[in-house]
Amino acid sequence: YHAKESGASITFFHSDMLEKAQQRFNIEQDLGYALELNQLSLVFQPICKGDRVHHFEALLRWHHPELGSISPMTFIPIAEDTNQIHAIGRWVLARVCQLLGYWQRESGGFDYPGITVNVSAKQLVSPAFISFVESLIEQNKIAPYKLGLEITESTLMEDEQASAQALQALRKAGVRLYLDDFGTGYSSLSLLGEYVFDVMKIDRHFITNVIDSDRSSTKLCAAMIQLAKTLEMDVVAEGVETEEQLTWLLEQGDVSIQGYLISRPLPVEELINWHPACAVSNRIEALNSTPKI
Ligand code: C2E
Ligand code: MG
Ligand code: MG
Ligand code: MG
Repeated sequence: YHAKESGASITFFHSDMLEKAQQRFNIEQDLGYALELNQLSLVFQPICKGDRVHHFEALLRWHHPELGSISPMTFIPIAEDTNQIHAIGRWVLARVCQLLGYWQRESGGFDYPGITVNVSAKQLVSPAFISFVESLIEQNKIAPYKLGLEITESTLMEDEQASAQALQALRKAGVRLYLDDFGTGYSSLSLLGEYVFDVMKIDRHFITNVIDSDRSSTKLCAAMIQLAKTLEMDVVAEGVETEEQLTWLLEQGDVSIQGYLISRPLPVEELINWHPACAVSNRIEALNSTPKI
């Protein structure tokens, strides 16, 4: 083998690493200002049963002035490492509860969709989290079950005891608990026994492969749906992209559908197309300003 060639590739490898580290450092720094500079926003993806939307999942978006749109898959782990997730997470929750408050007031007593929020491990076990959620529900005068919290298995594994306590308290507060990305972790089954989640979200990976040739994902998916039913949990299939997947899921019975086939995540002003109670166009100004947290 040519020493020169491997030498060159090592140099390249190093500079690549350096660039990555530098970029991460920049992102860390910029994330610190993202909230006050109004660079963060939320989009909402419908979760549907039949032709009816019953929840939207709130998903963070970061528009960086130079780098453009940065995925939450990139910046959420950084926010978690640097503890910025606390301020960002409070902003998301405040924003979502504010929106639910508008919908509740403007729905004129008719039903309106709920919203789910993704919660990181550090948020869940932080001492002020429960009271913060409770105070938002009270301030905005919303029915607590309209707020859903999505928690992944890996989140719970980080600090099992504190997580279990937090989940119990949240249940008492009346919010809906979603077990996100179900099936991807190591101890999914024991988690179902320990905690009482209201909803199981089957991970996109299983849905993507549900119409596969060796049928193993098909069988796993069917078994997960049965399991949820036995435990009296609702089921959401995430990442539904094709008619074939949809047809198969509907054959399984009572499954809620989320995915690009139904809708991509949408900005708040487009939600009215999904439900008449989501009329906020005259309030967009207010909603775009950062709520007090
Ligand atoms: P997640 O909670 O599992 O969210 C679902 C992800 O799948 C979203 O990606 C959504 O846009 C995407 N998705 C939905 N339907 C489809 C589909 O049919 N096909 C494909 N390929 N993708 C689909 P997104 O918005 O990039 O978010 C990625 C992850 O970032 C989320 O995964 C969640 O873990 C995290 N995240 C997003 N917003 C927040 C937040 O406010 N707080 C926290 N802690 N995490 C967040
Ligand atoms: Mg989620
Ligand atoms: Mg998910
Ligand atoms: Mg996922």
